[in-house]
Amino acid sequence: MLGEREPREISRKINRIRNKGVEFINAEIEEISPQGNSIKTNKQNISYDYLVVSLGVELSPQIVPGLSQAAYNLYDLDVAIRLRDDLVKFSSGNVVILVSGMPYKCPAAPYETALLLDYFFKTRGLRDKINISICTPEPLPMPTAGPQIGQAIKQMLEARNISFNPLIKITSVNSDEKELLFEGNKNVPFDLLVVIPPNLPPKVVKESDLAGEVGWIPVDRNTLKTKFDNIYAIGDVTAIKLPGQYKPDVPLMLPKAGVFAHNQAEVVANNLAVEINGAGSKKEFNGDGSCFLEIGYGKAGYAKGSFYNQPHPFVDMKNPSHWWHWSKILFEKYWLWKWFK
Ligand SMILES: Cc1cc2nc3c(=O)[nH]c(=O)nc-3n(C[C@H](O)[C@H](O)[C@H](O)COP(=O)(O)OP(=O)(O)OC[C@H]3O[C@@H](n4cnc5c(N)ncnc54)[C@H](O)[C@@H]3O)c2cc1C
Repeated sequence: MLGEREPREISRKINRIRNKGVEFINAEIEEISPQGNSIKTNKQNISYDYLVVSLGVELSPQIVPGLSQAAYNLYDLDVAIRLRDDLVKFSSGNVVILVSGMPYKCPAAPYETALLLDYFFKTRGLRDKINISICTPEPLPMPTAGPQIGQAIKQMLEARNISFNPLIKITSVNSDEKELLFEGNKNVPFDLLVVIPPNLPPKVVKESDLAGEVGWIPVDRNTLKTKFDNIYAIGDVTAIKLPGQYKPDVPLMLPKAGVFAHNQAEVVANNLAVEINGAGSKKEFNGDGSCFLEIGYGKAGYAKGSFYNQPHPFVDMKNPSHWWHWSKILFEKYWLWKWFK
């Protein structure tokens, strides 16, 4: 978004996992049939002994009228590049970062975006002509991490003069008037709108027997097994209840983040290998995860959590430093090198 790195530096061709002995089939999955142990794609039918579903979320900006026309969708690389090119031309007005629904992947993203934009405009000497605000249905930043972390991030935003508007839900966007319309007739004007689009369960999952009530896949929180013995689900597509409540009668859910997809994948891969080979020992996913929070100036904070902790998740946050920023880059470089060399 700030143009600090080029797409080629953070992307790899996925078919290079063939070097690891993994066959990659590039096709659209149209149907999952747990009873028939098969999936139908637009190219072929594939049968399986074991299935691991990792279809993520379906980004759906179109469900909010006016949103697609008016906003920069931060979760689309091409749009992030367009935003990068347009940011250098922006010199005054209201920048709004909108969280358009919950749940959404990467709970730190809107807050990182606000802090990075503050840094960007400050270093260009324009900050006093630009208001930055966040509008979100959340009560506090990163609510699953608990009130202490939420307050700490809120204070970080206040110190950087970023306004935080919680508990508001978008209904539509008037792109001609450049105005956001929220439930309860609240209006917010904008000159530049950056959005976390609605994250919905993928259609093919929602229409399958794997889906729970809302469309995500309920799984055993330790083994990631679905209600079918030979089908597992990992990552953003899953619904995992946590100890504690979001609000009365609403359970906390495991956030959608790459760190969990990654840790869950290692558990499922290990356990399938043990089951198939009949050797080795099984592992359990323990709900631990961590995330970096980029704040600009080459610094990042670092939050580490035990999300299965009783009576509610426990998360600890380290102060922002250059160390955590470089740790994130090294982490990324290591995994890109390990899997795609
Ligand atoms: C801008 C941004 C920054 C982020 N930063 C962080 C971070 O710092 N730390 C962190 O932990 N997480 C971060 N995340 C979140 C992280 O990227 C996701 O949580 C993670 O990628 C989830 O992995 P997944 O395998 O569940 O889903 P995905 O990575 O989304 O993969 C799902 C795949 O399934 C494919 N698919 C879906 N439907 C079909 C179909 N019908 N047929 C064929 N293919 C299909 C999709 O095209 C996609 O390739 C970030 C996300 C974004 C957008």
